[in-house]
Amino acid sequence: LYVEAALSENAALTLDGAPANYLANVLRLGPGGQVKLFDDRTGEWLAEISEAGRKRIALRVVSHLRERETVPDLWLLFAPIKRGRIDWIAEKATELGVARLVPVLTQRTIVDRVNTERLRAHMVEAAEQCERTALPELAEPQKLDALLAAWPAERTLFFADEQGGAPLAAAARPGPAAILIGPEGGFTDAEGARIRELAQVEPVSLGPRILRADTAALAAVSLWMAKAGD
Ligand code: SAM
Repeated sequence: LYVEAALSENAALTLDGAPANYLANVLRLGPGGQVKLFDDRTGEWLAEISEAGRKRIALRVVSHLRERETVPDLWLLFAPIKRGRIDWIAEKATELGVARLVPVLTQRTIVDRVNTERLRAHMVEAAEQCERTALPELAEPQKLDALLAAWPAERTLFFADEQGGAPLAAAARPGPAAILIGPEGGFTDAEGARIRELAQVEPVSLGPRILRADTAALAAVSLWMAKAGD
């Protein structure tokens, strides 16, 4: 379970709302029950329930289980698409071990406002389910040009381009990387040209078929992780 509170040996904390309800009424845990917690800073801890009310649970941390994870240094840059699908991208990227998600506003992005609160809630749920001990970072939405203008020198940008590029499975390699996926309507030619001008860019193909943006995100992260993730 993810908690905002900073965890440490013998720390006492109380949970209310949905987490308390989940522990008490779904898992039906009571005093003495044990829960694994992570705070996205210090790794994963084992905690014991000391009091269990219907709406509030009191716990005490009993031991440190795992250090905060290190994940491959992969960012996923994706143009926001329809609401349900962007939640799905955030969830799958979290499960697959992505370090950072960056919504990118492009010419054909039909969604220009991203509810990062809602996205983060999906990421927390996915991290709990797949037992990560840290959350991916979620950047505020950025315009494509601003992103390219401030691109970090050491980071390779694998530009998923259905118009052609090396197979990602061949191009992927360990090291700071980012994968860029366009919106349902794709990138404009001018955007494609600007992206290709970036010194760190490597246009890559995800195969001969045109994938939906969410399929492309999942496929690209999976391919990169299989080849370059550790
Ligand atoms: N131009 C596409 C079309 O004709 O329908 C629209 C873009 S596609 C639905 C969404 C994004 O997924 C693309 O911008 C690209 O980043 C990625 N994508 C889809 N298929 C791909 C492929 N075979 N190789 C590389 N990237 C792909």
